[in-house]
Order: sequence, then C-alpha cells, then structure tokens
Amino acid sequence: MKISVPDYILSIKAYPPGKPLEALEREYGIDNSIKLASNENPLGPSPLALQAIETAMKKLHRYPDGSGHDPIKKISEKIGVAPHNIVLGNGSDEIIAMLVRALLQPGDEAILPRPSFLIYEIMVRSVGAVPVYVPLKRLSIDLPGIENRITSRTRMVFICNPNNPTGTVVSKKEFNEFLNSIPPGIIVVVDEAYIEFVRDPNCLYSMDYQDDNRPLVTLRTFSKVYGLAGLRIGYGVMPKELSELLNRIRLPFNANSLAQVAAAAALDDTMFLHKTIHLVHEGLDFLYDCMERLGLEYFPSQANFFLINVKRDADEIFENMLRKGVIVRSMTSYGYPEYIRINVGLPVENVRFVKALSEVIQS
Ligand SMILES: *Cc1c(COP(=O)(O)O)cnc(C)c1O
Repeated sequence: MKISVPDYILSIKAYPPGKPLEALEREYGIDNSIKLASNENPLGPSPLALQAIETAMKKLHRYPDGSGHDPIKKISEKIGVAPHNIVLGNGSDEIIAMLVRALLQPGDEAILPRPSFLIYEIMVRSVGAVPVYVPLKRLSIDLPGIENRITSRTRMVFICNPNNPTGTVVSKKEFNEFLNSIPPGIIVVVDEAYIEFVRDPNCLYSMDYQDDNRPLVTLRTFSKVYGLAGLRIGYGVMPKELSELLNRIRLPFNANSLAQVAAAAALDDTMFLHKTIHLVHEGLDFLYDCMERLGLEYFPSQANFFLINVKRDADEIFENMLRKGVIVRSMTSYGYPEYIRINVGLPVENVRFVKALSEVIQS
C-alpha cells in the first residue's frame, strides 16, 4: 500500500492493554484465572448502575442525550461546580484526546511525567505536538522539574494524581508553589482517576482550584471506584471557556445512553463506593504484609494498585504468573523492567496472588 503517513503518527507505539482473562484462558487452556493487571474494581459494577441500565435498555433505539443533561446535573451537584464546567467523555481517555485536539498544534510542547499513564504521550503525539518528559523523583511527580522544562512552546502539563503506575501523590503545598510559579497560559491537566482511594491528608484535590479564570482541567472516571470500565464513561471539569471549545469538537453522542444512566446512578451508590474503598484499603495492607514476609521490596500507594520490585525480569514473572492463572502487569513498557504492578483483588484473589508469586519467585 502506498500511503503517506505523518512522521508523528509513526512515532507512536500502540497502547499495551492488560491481558484479558478470556485471552489467557484460551491460550493456556485453563479456567478460574484472575486479573490484577488493569486496576479494575474486583467487586464488579455498582449495583445501582446495573439497575439503571436494565431500565434504560428498552430505549436503546433512541440516540443518547447529546448534552448529557442528567449525569452532568448529578456530577455538578456532587462536586459543587456548574454544569457548564463539565464535559462527559467516552472514558476520561476521550477527554484527553479532546484536549490535545482542541488546544495543541504541531510543534507545541506538552510536559509529561515519566513513567506515568501512557495515554498522555500517545494523545500528544497523535496531533503532532512534542512530549517533553520529566522523570519521577523517588517515584513521585517532580513539579519543580516540570517547571524547569517550561519554554515558550509549552502549552500543556499533565499531572497524574495519584500517579499510575507508582501510586504516589502530589501535595497541596507542592501544587500551590507550582501554580504560583508557572506562566498563566499553560493548561494544567490533573488526572484523578484514583482520587477516591487516597488516604494521605496532604494530597492535592485539584477540584479545589477550579476557577473560571485558570486553565486547569480535572479528569475523573467511572472506570475504577464505580466499576464501570467496560461502559466507557468519564468527565473533565474545566473553565467554561475550555468546555465550550471541547463541545465544539466533541462527537455529538460520545457518551452512550447506558453509560449516562449508569454514571448518574453510580454517583448515588455511596454504599458501593464505601465498600470498594474499604476493600482496597484492607487489601493493600494485607498485601504489603505479605510482601514483607516474602522479603520483596514494594512501594506503598495511594491508589488501588502498587509496585513490587521482583528483582528479576518482570516479563518472565508475568509469563510464569500467567501459567498459574494470575494476570499481573509487567512494568517493562513503563521503563521498570524488574517491577510488576498489581491491583488489589478480592481477599481470595489476593491470597491466590501471593501464593502464586511466592512459588514463581522460589522456582
Ligand atoms: C484507568 C485510568 C484512567 C481511566 O480511563 P477511562 O478512559 O476513564 O477508563 C485515566 N487515567 C489513569 C491514570 C488511569 O489509570
């Protein structure tokens, strides 16, 4: 085929998704496997969301409400910002895609912590903008380091809080200093996909800094604590000037009708929310103890996942764990070739993971 492809598109490496359970079971001829690789909710979806979906299914012949009125109203009440400050996305991933499309031109620079969520880099490159990487410092996002890399070409900065894959957070104090020292036109995107799991009282909540005169975007998702990853729904909170721009380029029905009713219902499911958060905290503490007993270095996290230093080739550990029916995430593609990342599962899954890991490490 003779087609011309932009160099910046050719520079993109496809996102490596966590291995689906079905793929593992097909390839290895096993069943009863468990997946701790994509930070999903082990309790399943929010029950209230499921109920709402059942009712809404009867209207699947209709187009969704393109304005997302109901979920936006609900979000607006829950977090205390005006509806015109909220944009729904087909996952918060789509908000990132819209932001770069609406705001970056080829040659513009976007500053990204590294390692962090791989989607930032893919999206930035997809519009011909230039990713500028700032390495983590002791696994945390280095805000002074980011500030040092700002040039006249910098348009956007991504901050993942808590950071995926390290689970570290930015403090309010660090963020204050950062905001006060950067030029006013730079768009700061704070991705809070795991914010509900945070236990550190010093952690930044970027929603507190929302202001119609500040180019700050907060990203939130229903994929993690609400258990709706398969439905694809998330949102961005931002000044009206930015939400109006995003609404110009947004596909009219980007948030599907089932996702919309599920999101609105999930926000009311406080029981499920608390149950999930409790399960994650208990699970983290249990798993940390187990890592200590196994003599493995691990990194305490503010999210529903954490890193383990396996001191061996992580891809090999990943493969050997697969044979035991446990899917973990090798951190090789994130630049940590001897680390794995796992998310908290159900208590029985956590026990099974620990047993499998101790066997793999010892063999
Ligand atoms: C899981 C995750 C998201 C959520 O993406 P969705 O598109 O909403 O499913 C966003 N940011 C980070 C860092 C994540 O890990």
